[in-house]
Amino acid sequence: MNTELELGLERRIGKRSAAVVEKHLGITTVGGLLNYFPRRYLSRGELTPISEVPLDEEVTLIARVISNTTRQMRARRGSLTDVVISDDAGTSPGGVPGTLKISFFNGYRAKAELQPGRRAMFSGKVTRYGGALGLTNPDFLLLDEDPDAPGMDPEKLAAMPIPVYPATAKLTSWSIQKVISTLLDTVDLDALDDPLPAGISAREKFLPMPQAYRLIHAPQTPEDWRRARDRFRYQEALVLQSALARRRAQLAAEEATARRPVPDGLLAAFDRQLPFTLTAGQAAVGKTLSGELSQDGPMNRLLQGEVGSGKTIVALRAMLQVVDAGGQAALLAPTEVLAAQHFDSIRRTLGPLASDGLLGGLGDHTVQVSLLTGSMSTAARKQALLDAASGTAGIVIGTHALLSDNVSFYDLGLIVVDEQHRFGVEQRDALRTKASKPPHLLVMTATPIPRTVAMTVFGDLETSVLDELPAGRAPITTHVVGLAENPGWASRIWSRSREEIDAGHQVYVVCPKIGTDDDGDFTPGEAEPAPGDLEGDAAARELASVTAVVEQLREEPALAGVPLAPLHGRQDPLLKSETMASFTANETKLLVSTTVIEVGVDVHNATLMVILDADRFGISQLHQLRGRVGRGGLPGTCLLVTALEPGHPSRRRLDAVAATTDGFELSQEDLKLRREGDILGASQSGGRSTLKLLRVLEHEDIIARARQDAQEIVGGDPSLADHPALAEAIEDYLNPEKEAFLERG
Ligand code: ADP
Ligand code: MG
Repeated sequence: MNTELELGLERRIGKRSAAVVEKHLGITTVGGLLNYFPRRYLSRGELTPISEVPLDEEVTLIARVISNTTRQMRARRGSLTDVVISDDAGTSPGGVPGTLKISFFNGYRAKAELQPGRRAMFSGKVTRYGGALGLTNPDFLLLDEDPDAPGMDPEKLAAMPIPVYPATAKLTSWSIQKVISTLLDTVDLDALDDPLPAGISAREKFLPMPQAYRLIHAPQTPEDWRRARDRFRYQEALVLQSALARRRAQLAAEEATARRPVPDGLLAAFDRQLPFTLTAGQAAVGKTLSGELSQDGPMNRLLQGEVGSGKTIVALRAMLQVVDAGGQAALLAPTEVLAAQHFDSIRRTLGPLASDGLLGGLGDHTVQVSLLTGSMSTAARKQALLDAASGTAGIVIGTHALLSDNVSFYDLGLIVVDEQHRFGVEQRDALRTKASKPPHLLVMTATPIPRTVAMTVFGDLETSVLDELPAGRAPITTHVVGLAENPGWASRIWSRSREEIDAGHQVYVVCPKIGTDDDGDFTPGEAEPAPGDLEGDAAARELASVTAVVEQLREEPALAGVPLAPLHGRQDPLLKSETMASFTANETKLLVSTTVIEVGVDVHNATLMVILDADRFGISQLHQLRGRVGRGGLPGTCLLVTALEPGHPSRRRLDAVAATTDGFELSQEDLKLRREGDILGASQSGGRSTLKLLRVLEHEDIIARARQDAQEIVGGDPSLADHPALAEAIEDYLNPEKEAFLERG
């Protein structure tokens, strides 16, 4: 056992340093700090050239001071020291030597030390003021004074990489480097057990672990850190995949009830009355599901499908097979709106096969469908609970309410989780406890995801893909409406809406907020942070809100006489379902809502989707929202309205969404544009850590190899008794609370 890794930091670096590290990095153990890896390494050729510093990012620069001026501020007390720096000659080969202005408020040390001609290392966040990029109150270190400073010796600097740690304003990268250097001197690295099996290390020609720890923190050459990082990256992949392999093995070893198809049951009757033919993909996936449901080991399958590819029918057919075999099926939706919509549309699709609970005699080919949500009236809820528990309800549709303790089933055979983006392993497990034997499980993703993401995020599930849309699907055209460059388009949006409505169609208008003073319609964990958001930005302009936009549109001449209604998560549930019903019935022509309509909502007559302040949403959200139109054979249009300037980083997402309707392509793009941690951090893999060295898009081959290795290791040693260090690393991965690895920056 690697007790050394669990050891309190104070034992190895002293009380004072340990306290500082805990305070600023949240790290308390030897292992935590050893595994706090540099985010990148700088060498002369790799420093950020000043001419290319990225807005809003922490950068480290080595530069020479050109000028230093200090003046008293007029508006408030204190002084402002402006320092202009310039790239060292040769720092950016072929690049333009840039200059950058740095401002220090009350920067007495800066005023005294940063004299023209001095060289220093600067580290801080790039901000924009007065049109130009700059740094405000950065940390700096004179290179020719501090003998410990990295990059002190110009000769050495040319070759020696400088590690850059995820730093905070209070604890700089080089302070972290110094503490870790002490740690490397005091910890007996050679005594540590290696989580990587020797065979794998030999095959991959990895550095031995102690050496890898030394070189990842204190490399002499770029080759050093590359080799060290390769090793830890693979280790990360193996730990993750072993955790998943172990879970797969555990799931597979369970015993489930086989639900074999019956020759003349509900499913057969349903297929006969289906108003369309299944796509080839739907038929193929249907066959896979049917086969797995017929076995006495549990199905654990992920169904990925493009928005509108027809996942619901596939799920419904699986549910009917289970009902035919005498079991019950539960369908779990992420929102009440979606649960209610599924309830309505599934009963409609079933037609005469859905019983209303009054008939349902023996030998009758019908199934009762029940709805169970948190906001139902007590009486309706009681009835639904009773029907689930007695087995009267063959199909139970609901929200998270299905997870609560008082819900029980007579014989739950299949759980379908729809549009899952926000359902972690814990919730899946909570549902599985609702059956005496583990039920079969089908998880459906809201948007398609790249293969390696599926392997990582849903690595405990087998995967099926629906990659074609049903024939006759009308195309969706997407436009970015930039109000910054074309203010006049603001009113054009509403006359365009009027045209749709006059043509007999309907319009969605989506806003990022409910009211004028709230943060949006997000339940915790639902919000997708919009990357690249500028705080000052949001404060400067009022974002579109449902209440304000409804008021505005009621006054809008172009929309005079148009029945419109608001819809958002804070409304009374009854009002919500009435509003939705009125929109579905084509009485309400224009719906102003939050992202409550993001997933699954299916109103065929809607043809125009207007998304206000679209830059506030993530790529997959926008793709989902857009998927709400163009459903009924009528061509759809989506307008992504933004007030941001054309070159703004957040507009790249809008351009990406406008450029393609291919969900797989978009999810790749999404991952590239945002930090992966945001996606993986949602913890669907069972662990809560974000990945440190592994990038799911870049390292596909590593992930695939590690998956293979993990499969073999776990296959031969299911309890990992012969791989204690690996088992321990998995525990650390699964319970990161033991050590808060704070990813900063
Ligand atoms: P999603 O995969 O996004 O959940 P849905 O299951 O909501 O998609 O299906 C979208 C629409 O396509 C529904 O109205 C459904 O009835 C319809 N549909 C599903 N399969 C087919 C098919 N094979 N042919 C024609 N329409 C279909
Ligand atoms: Mg759906």
